[in-house]
Amino acid sequence: MSNRRTFAIISHPDAGKTTLTEKLLLQGGAIHLAGEVKARGQARRARSDWMKIEQQRGISVTSSVMTFERDGITFNLLDTPGHEDFSEDTYRTLTAVDSAIMVIDAAKGIEPQTRKLFEVCRLRSVPIITFVNKVDREGKSGFELLDEVADTLALDVSPQGWPVGMGGTFQGVLDFASGEVSRPEGPSKEFRGKREADAALPDEVAEEAELARIGYPEFDLEAYRNGDLTPVYFGSALKNFGVTELIEAIATHAPPPRPQPAGEEQVSPERDEVTGFIFKVQANMDPNHRDRIAFMRQVSGTFKRGMKLTPSGLGKPIAIHSPILFFAQDRELADTAEAGDIIGIPNHGTLRVGDTLSEKNQIRFTGLPNFAPEILRRVVLKDPTKTKQLRKALDDLSEEGVIQVFYPEIGAQWIVGVVGQLQLDVLVSRLEAEYKVEANLEPAPFATARWLKGDAKTLGEFEGFNRANLARDRDGDLVFMAKSPWDVGYQQEKNPDLTFSATKER
Ligand code: GDP
Repeated sequence: MSNRRTFAIISHPDAGKTTLTEKLLLQGGAIHLAGEVKARGQARRARSDWMKIEQQRGISVTSSVMTFERDGITFNLLDTPGHEDFSEDTYRTLTAVDSAIMVIDAAKGIEPQTRKLFEVCRLRSVPIITFVNKVDREGKSGFELLDEVADTLALDVSPQGWPVGMGGTFQGVLDFASGEVSRPEGPSKEFRGKREADAALPDEVAEEAELARIGYPEFDLEAYRNGDLTPVYFGSALKNFGVTELIEAIATHAPPPRPQPAGEEQVSPERDEVTGFIFKVQANMDPNHRDRIAFMRQVSGTFKRGMKLTPSGLGKPIAIHSPILFFAQDRELADTAEAGDIIGIPNHGTLRVGDTLSEKNQIRFTGLPNFAPEILRRVVLKDPTKTKQLRKALDDLSEEGVIQVFYPEIGAQWIVGVVGQLQLDVLVSRLEAEYKVEANLEPAPFATARWLKGDAKTLGEFEGFNRANLARDRDGDLVFMAKSPWDVGYQQEKNPDLTFSATKER
């Protein structure tokens, strides 16, 4: 059985994702780097102009990958941007994981971004382990939190421990499986490994814990792996409570690499052939080079450095000479990688989000959609002589998945589409920093877009009548630009032989 565990942490900003990530890396033996997650991020930011936006907003726009090992298990932790804006990038990152940890602030419960990210996980039946963080502070009661998770997410909850007091009365965390209590130590009141096997609990806590144990379902591996039940751990990332329990839960319960959909087929991790898909492309990490790193989630086979794989978008094989594995210590040149691993592949724009890579070039992974944009804007150049640069920039950035671009069939007003406002800010800042193009984004006369599918004749007829509302995307595919959602429904009714699709799978 595979020893890979590929997962992400989902949470609302401020719930403690960064702090927990650091503590997980610590447990994974990457001690010299734990605590430097943010510092390292800052160093990187300072290097690249286009990440100015990250500095300004104090947020991480880009995802990264951290790999660490513990007790023979290799953990691949994929970072999801922690901003309130729902972005396609975040969604696609979640297509590359097998499970997730949902971090909840004990004082706040389920917050909007937690919920959105949870829904994305549910779409793909990604199993969730819940970590109720900050129990060292005053928060909602354990019961209130369990019921909130169960009710708002329609999920069975199975508590695996209980906080011994909260806030001023916090005295540690009880672990149900061992019956031991982790205790705060020293002036910092951190957990440093001292557990009490026969701890005397205050009566009230003992009673609550007993009620929690019998009042909620027992842990059930199958229900968890189906995404129907979540085990709940209480802890404090800051003070190191519950972190070991969490990492052990991932090691023992979280699924090893799962089969991935490729049309009708499910590609098993046991398949001999090396296959994978690109879920993210990060460009221009160094503004002086036009390099990109494509992040491939490996689905099957054993990858060896120098191997030739064929990207579906290219049709001819490329040799992968300098793949990157993301060990927390540093970026290491990968010699081999297994199903579940993430490989960074440096390239000059040949690899695109959604591409399948494989040895035989026969399968195509599906399920990495483009989303119908919710926000559309016209791109207006400040200097009209820069049209060529703008076209290049929009092509590049849409290829990377930062934005979607639509070139109307009539007129020269190019339109960009995004699902979250933040993507627009990123666009403007990268246009300036990397392409020296100054542009304004102005309201577009359209509200949303739909990809059109149908036979050539029907499409041709529709095109003849609706040219003013049609555009081509980066791949030259026909897109209906709708003035309103109502418009979409109306056209669909009038044209039953055409499909107006809200997503496009590459
Ligand atoms: P993120 O936005 O989810 O990455 O959250 P951070 O990890 O940056 O944490 C947000 C704030 O909460 C920081 O000030 C942390 O020090 C604090 N914090 C995180 N975990 C805990 C915890 O377990 N207890 C307490 N008291 N504070 C915490």
